[in-house]
Amino acid sequence: MYNKVLVTGGTGFVGRRLKKIKPEWTYMSSSDCDLTNKERLQEYLSDLKPDAVVHLAARVGGIKEASENQSEFYYLNTLINMNVVHECYKVGVKRLLSCLSTCCFPDVFDRYPMIEDDLMKGEPAITNYCYGYSKRNLFLQSKWYAKEKNVCYNAFTPSNIYGPENTFDLDKSHFISSMIRKIVEADDGSEVVFWGTGNALRQHLYVDDLAQIMPTLLEKHVSEMPLIVAPDENLSIKQIIDKFLKISQKDVKVVFSGVLEGQHRKDASNKNLKDLMGGFNFTNLDDGLKTTYDWYCQNKEKDE
Ligand code: NAP
Repeated sequence: MYNKVLVTGGTGFVGRRLKKIKPEWTYMSSSDCDLTNKERLQEYLSDLKPDAVVHLAARVGGIKEASENQSEFYYLNTLINMNVVHECYKVGVKRLLSCLSTCCFPDVFDRYPMIEDDLMKGEPAITNYCYGYSKRNLFLQSKWYAKEKNVCYNAFTPSNIYGPENTFDLDKSHFISSMIRKIVEADDGSEVVFWGTGNALRQHLYVDDLAQIMPTLLEKHVSEMPLIVAPDENLSIKQIIDKFLKISQKDVKVVFSGVLEGQHRKDASNKNLKDLMGGFNFTNLDDGLKTTYDWYCQNKEKDE
């Protein structure tokens, strides 16, 4: 349906996995074009003339980075998103599919799983407050450009993403990558310390499931709904660690520090996604963890 598709954030974790499925699309990095620079972006888009854009680029980080650099996360993400939506419109791009995050959802809600309509009902968790608001702004901007300017601009909302090629750098990584690295590097019998209490619940989305879903969303997701992309399983951090200990066959003592607990739960419904896709079988966490663990063992020297 679209001849020339541009992917922003094409060199990031999600972009690299999407490229394996759609190698014919154009994958942009920050060195190709700094999205905070609107003149450069306009020039880049005018030269490339894409007929559709998948917008993945963002300043992304784990709970520590996002909670300690809120002003930077707000400024960069807001600037990037404002520029991408407006410059796409100015150069005549008719289709823009942008990536939000379940971090946008309210910190506490009265009914779970949350649905797309709940995205803006209440403030995001303090640990990702500014990241959450910058993504909400992206949703609003897309929605109103679509309403007023005869374009199909909308978004999807993935839950926590994990899988091969994620960063395993402990200063930047998200929970599953840091869990794998910490446990693999620990000696049997030693203590491994994790943040929080282990009780927080998370839906962990396998990156290749998302990569498989995005091309269909580009074609078929035409409503303003910030379509949730999240698997069925919603497990506590403790349950996920237990699964990984079985897979890795490591015998370590798990300790929780209590700090940086994050949002207690943000489970979100995938019903609308499954309706749109005509069903979808998400990779179960056991299989996804095993594949990610194998990838890490084969590539860990390169990542350090
Ligand atoms: P990532 O690995 O950190 O990659 C970020 C990408 O954005 C890179 O390609 C980076 O380019 C690009 N970028 C950053 N600043 C830029 C700028 N100023 N100009 C141009 N490009 C810039 O992120 P990811 O994990 O793939 O995340 C992809 C999307 O998924 C993001 O929108 C994120 O918010 C969303 N998301 C992620 C998760 C998760 O768990 N990872 C969960 C929910 C939603 P360079 O590398 O060239 O600098």
